[in-house]
Amino acid sequence: MTETSQKKRIQDYIDETREQWVDLSMHIHDNPELSFAEHQAMAWLTSPLEEEGFEVRRGLIPELPTSFRAEWEGTTDGPTIGLIAEYDALAELGHACGHNIIGASAVCAAISLKKALGSHFPGKVVVLGTPAEEEGGGKIMLIEEGWFDDLDTAMMCHPRDRTMILRGSLACVDVDVSFHGKAAHAAANPDQGISALDAMLNSFMCVKQLLPALHSSANIHGIITKGGDATNIIPDHCEASFLLRAEKLEVLEQVKERFYQGVEHSTKAIGATCEMNEGLMYAERINNRVLAYQFKENLRELGVDVDDSVIEKGIGSSDIGNVSQIVPTIHPYIKIGEASTHTKAFTETAGSLDGMRGLIQSSKALALTAYDLLATPSLVKDAHEEWKQSINHKGDGHG
Ligand SMILES: [Zn+2]
Ligand SMILES: [Zn+2]
Repeated sequence: MTETSQKKRIQDYIDETREQWVDLSMHIHDNPELSFAEHQAMAWLTSPLEEEGFEVRRGLIPELPTSFRAEWEGTTDGPTIGLIAEYDALAELGHACGHNIIGASAVCAAISLKKALGSHFPGKVVVLGTPAEEEGGGKIMLIEEGWFDDLDTAMMCHPRDRTMILRGSLACVDVDVSFHGKAAHAAANPDQGISALDAMLNSFMCVKQLLPALHSSANIHGIITKGGDATNIIPDHCEASFLLRAEKLEVLEQVKERFYQGVEHSTKAIGATCEMNEGLMYAERINNRVLAYQFKENLRELGVDVDDSVIEKGIGSSDIGNVSQIVPTIHPYIKIGEASTHTKAFTETAGSLDGMRGLIQSSKALALTAYDLLATPSLVKDAHEEWKQSINHKGDGHG
């Protein structure tokens, strides 16, 4: 069968079974589950894969019972193509990030490939179910346990208010700080107290003053999570949470070092002590252009306009960044409406007709790009060459 007819079979299959994918996505949309608790979504996403003969494994690591991996292997050697599923929702807002579309499109793409190709194809298709994107960094935990090691490429498609292929994301890390002092009556014997609150306020001031001296991409946001118990007691215990960001992991390491020094010195000046508790390190996203341009071509063939400018402003962080550090990765966006993500309006869009149009477009573009990678080994090779270069040049950034 020719390449054109196989690509047409993929699209025809998705069109014919449209209702099944819309139902799957809407089911997840209407039953939102938070990070680490996506039990129903995992069951709904894995059951069609199992029915189609994919080898399915659920609960890949004890910390992530709602993770899964579904595999289907061809008859000859070839690349291992990863399709990444996310399916967690946000508290209060529901599916305000449209992960109901991401999860269903990964499953739809994988099954359409199997239907169109039969078993006579080189390589392997893997759907990796990665929970806890919004809270927790599920992909980072799965990477640490080796669940991404055998992938040659990784792809997912995120719904949004704009179709883009080269939007970046920042490196970031959470740091919780506990300040410890000594309680005393605030009026009767303040000389016997050590204010954990003053240590904390000093640290906030120091961080603010440090910022202009750090790398231009550095940013530090902090909130007070415990500020004392009563106004007439010098607080002996206060807590704050900080989020540190920078354009790259290397820069973030430097920012973190300066932040630690600043907080430690500010605390010491008051005579208090502090403890810092660091979360997972999120890496910046390296968009693989070979994969991104292939994805763009497929979107264009589907009649979708694509913005291929490099977007580095107004960006956040995601655990797909860590995936992009170890395997050629793309995380393009598909426009489903005008609303911004993480709003009530986006929740509505993610469950609307426009949202479902985006679901079908992203499923097709993922499946067609996966097909290109299986059918044209040189593409995977080129993607790897580019990825190796980007990893080697990581240290060369804007100093
Ligand atoms: Zn989100
Ligand atoms: Zn999201």
